[in-house]
Amino acid sequence: MTDPARLLPTPLVVATHNPGKAREIADLIRPYGVDSASAAELGLPDVEETGDTFEANAALKAEAAAARAGRFALADDSGLAVDALDGAPGIYSARWAEDASGKRDFAYAMRRVWDAVQKTGGENLRARFVCVLALSNPGGAIQHWRGEVEGTLVWPPRGDRGFGYDPMFVPDGYAITFGEMDPDEKHAISHRARAFERFLASLKQGGE
Ligand code: IMP
Repeated sequence: MTDPARLLPTPLVVATHNPGKAREIADLIRPYGVDSASAAELGLPDVEETGDTFEANAALKAEAAAARAGRFALADDSGLAVDALDGAPGIYSARWAEDASGKRDFAYAMRRVWDAVQKTGGENLRARFVCVLALSNPGGAIQHWRGEVEGTLVWPPRGDRGFGYDPMFVPDGYAITFGEMDPDEKHAISHRARAFERFLASLKQGGE
């Protein structure tokens, strides 16, 4: 059996500048005793997300951080995909939050999503969060894993826990939004946690 404390590559760069993601990934990797630092903490530059899939963007971020730091790097590309909007904002979820000055405002982003759904008639409120985790070794070899969680959009947004679009998303089987949920409860079912489970499963397979 692989010792869980030795499962993850260490030291590990968590290739994100998003504090919400950095916090959630830190929670997920904590039980594995990894020596980790985020790209922001290491002063690594943010990467332009020029890919047109979650996989491509996660790979860009992981590869750039691994090359700069000379360590394994784990990146997350994620977003909210709304059925009535044919999957938008999707890979552009962070960009939908940018105001004219380029500052991110998720109250504004949630309003944009809600208004766009209302323009389609407002009947279909189905949506999912998608997360792709990519691991790059220092040489740039990439692997990735996807996780999704299905749910329904609500208005007005509720709750000030979590980040991003959490306050307008009620996961299936729950009556509260991710924004109202205890972080441990979100970690039990979230897209990020599901991608992370797959990541661990493949490390376990590789380590046995
Ligand atoms: P990116 O992966 O850096 O392109 O940014 C993804 C964006 O999707 C984030 O800035 C959030 O707005 C949104 N997002 C991703 N995961 C979550 C989540 O767990 N809750 C809420 N919003 C999320």
